[in-house]
Amino acid sequence: SKPIIALVGRPNVGKSTLFNRLTRSRDAIVADYPGLTRDRQYGTGRLGSQPYIVVDTGGLSGETEGVDPLMAGQVRAALDEADAVLFLVDGRQGILPADEQIANYVRLFDKPVLVLVNKAEGFDHEIAKAEFFKLGMGDPMAISSAHGDNVEQAINSILPKI
Ligand code: GDP
Ligand code: MG
Repeated sequence: SKPIIALVGRPNVGKSTLFNRLTRSRDAIVADYPGLTRDRQYGTGRLGSQPYIVVDTGGLSGETEGVDPLMAGQVRAALDEADAVLFLVDGRQGILPADEQIANYVRLFDKPVLVLVNKAEGFDHEIAKAEFFKLGMGDPMAISSAHGDNVEQAINSILPKI
């Protein structure tokens, strides 16, 4: 069966943009409204001859209070069923407390994780990666979901860890 890769991260980091690029579908709504895509969305991606399932999740704010329970449940369900996790962060904003809380939550699932520093187009990738290395989740990779930079490399990096 196809490996399942979950996309997690706080709202507006670019999960749905990455989902669309990986699946080349229009299933996930991408907009400038944080948290608009609240349900899990499934799509099929392909790396060479290897197909995989990618799961987009609604935002996970990282705060226990004020999180829509359904939304939190969707993220938990996606992490439960995932074989690997792509944890997106926003390279332009640096580490926010919500990122650290999500990191702690993701760690509980003990699945292969790759931190993706998104929106890195036009930024020094080494500086972006050094900042998010502090999350303690291994070597991040700098990507641009919008432009496609390093997106295939990210899949190529996570699939062998499954
Ligand atoms: P989500 O809430 O995590 O699903 O984030 P979205 O995919 O909806 O993206 C949130 C915003 O970030 C949108 O305005 C996107 O156009 C923008 N965005 C996503 N990826 C990139 C990227 O690689 N670079 C830049 N500059 N903006 C991006
Ligand atoms: Mg979204």
